Amino acid sequence: MRSRWTLRSWTYVVALAISAMNDRGRHAAAPPGGRAKRLVSVALLVAGAAALLLGPSPAGQYIGNRLARSSSAARPGPGAHPPAGVTGAGVAANGSTPQAAPPAAGGPGPTTAPSPGPVSPSASHSASADPVAGALRRTGTGAVALTFDDGPDPVQTPLLLDLLKEQGVKATFCMVGFRARDHPDLVRRIAAEGHTLCNHSWQHLTNLAKRPVNYIKWDLESTNDAIRAAVPDAKIAYFRAPGGNFTPELVALAKQYGMTSIYWQVDPRDWDHKKDPSDPAHIARVVASVQRYTKPGSIVLSHDNGQPDTIEAYRTLLPWLKERFELAPLPA
Ligand SMILES: [Zn+2]
Repeated sequence: MRSRWTLRSWTYVVALAISAMNDRGRHAAAPPGGRAKRLVSVALLVAGAAALLLGPSPAGQYIGNRLARSSSAARPGPGAHPPAGVTGAGVAANGSTPQAAPPAAGGPGPTTAPSPGPVSPSASHSASADPVAGALRRTGTGAVALTFDDGPDPVQTPLLLDLLKEQGVKATFCMVGFRARDHPDLVRRIAAEGHTLCNHSWQHLTNLAKRPVNYIKWDLESTNDAIRAAVPDAKIAYFRAPGGNFTPELVALAKQYGMTSIYWQVDPRDWDHKKDPSDPAHIARVVASVQRYTKPGSIVLSHDNGQPDTIEAYRTLLPWLKERFELAPLPA
C-alpha cells in the first residue's frame, strides 16, 4: 500500500514537472528575467505537488499561494488588456468595461476566462511567409502594412492618428470591441482618415479559439456591431485573434463574416517593457527591431493601446520606413 502511494506520488510529480517544462518551452520567447521566475515556478510546482500528496499543511498552502502569484505575474503583454486579474469582468486601463449581453444560446459567456497568456509565442520576426492556421503574415504585394492593435485608446490613438496624418501614412487598426463601443468618436476618426478597420475581438480573450462557437460568434458580431454603431457603413475586412492565437476553425468562422484573418511577420514586442512605459532603451529596441526585420510585403504588429513609447518609436520609424517601402493600409 505504502509503496503504491509512493509510486503514484512520484508519477504525479514527474508528470507535473514535464508539463511545467513544456510550458517553459512554449513561452521561450518571453521577456528576459522571466526565465528565473519560471524555474522557480517549476521548482514550486514540484514541491507543491509533493506537499499536496503528503497532505494539507501550512507549508503546502504557502507553496500553493506563491505558485499562483508567480505564474500570474510571469504573464505580461497585451494579452493582459483587459488586465489579467479582471479578464472577463474586464476593467480596462481606462476604466471602461467590456460587459455586454452574453450570447443568447449560453456558453460560458465572457465572464469565466482564465488569465490570458502571453500575446504570442513568436520571436520578434518570422522568416516564414506561410500563413498561421490560415492567417496572413504578409500583404501579398510589395507594400508594408502597419497594424495597430488593442485600441482605440482615448489618449494614445489620437496621438498616433496625428502622427500618421502628419507623415501621410495609412495603417490598419485592429480594434477591441468594447473599446470601440466606448470611443465611437475615435472609430469615426480612424475610418474618416482612411485607415483600414480590423476586428480584434470583443474583449481580448487570448483563448478565444477554444470558446464555444456560440460565444465566438457573439464576440465577433458584437465587435463589428460596436464599430458599425460608430460608422454604419464600415467595411470590416480583417480579423486578428487576440494574441494571434488562430486556429483553422477560427479563421473559417471569421471568413463567414467576410473577414480575412491576419497574423504578422514583424513583431517588435512593443508591449514588452517594465511597468513604467517611458524608457528610451525600449523605444530604441522597438525601432531597431522594425528596421531590422521589415521587408517588402511585411505585416508589422504594434499597439496603440496604452503604449506611449510605441508612438515615440514611430516618430522615428515612419520617416525611415517611408524612404524604403510603400506603406499601405490593408486593402478594405
Ligand atoms: Zn491584441
